[in-house]
Amino acid sequence: MICELCGKETNRTTLVFIEGSSLRVCSDCEKFGEVRKPAKKEEAAKSTIAQRLEVRERRMKSRDVYEGEETTLELVPDFPKLIREARMAREWKQETLAAKINEKTSVINKLERGDIRPVDSLVKKVEKELGIKLMERVPLIKPEAKTSGSKGLTLGDLIKLEKE
Ligand SMILES: [Zn+2]
Repeated sequence: MICELCGKETNRTTLVFIEGSSLRVCSDCEKFGEVRKPAKKEEAAKSTIAQRLEVRERRMKSRDVYEGEETTLELVPDFPKLIREARMAREWKQETLAAKINEKTSVINKLERGDIRPVDSLVKKVEKELGIKLMERVPLIKPEAKTSGSKGLTLGDLIKLEKE
């Protein structure tokens, strides 16, 4: 077996989590990842690189600090509720909204039940007609840290990433 972190040949690997990716690593590299959620008291014992990786991870998870990170627009999960509430606030029937955006009433009905995932053009029409926002900007999860086949990230790669 090959350690996916340092690339060393080893006869035993452990599955650990590093920056949200799972890697099979040798016993020397186990300490760079998390086998499970770390307990607070273990933090003091962590190596510098593990701590820096954690800081990166926290930064990527934080909703407020993704300036400069790649983002993507996604449909908000509670769009059915938002549409229904905005329509009711205007005292419109589903038919009324349907007519205004030139769609079938059944489309509005399915939207409000969450039965369909509207295409962008439909989202835009509904947003404009009801004056609501149904899309939110979320950080794009980059596939760069994913392991592919036998060639995983080496420690050298991680250090390179840190310097970027
Ligand atoms: Zn290793």
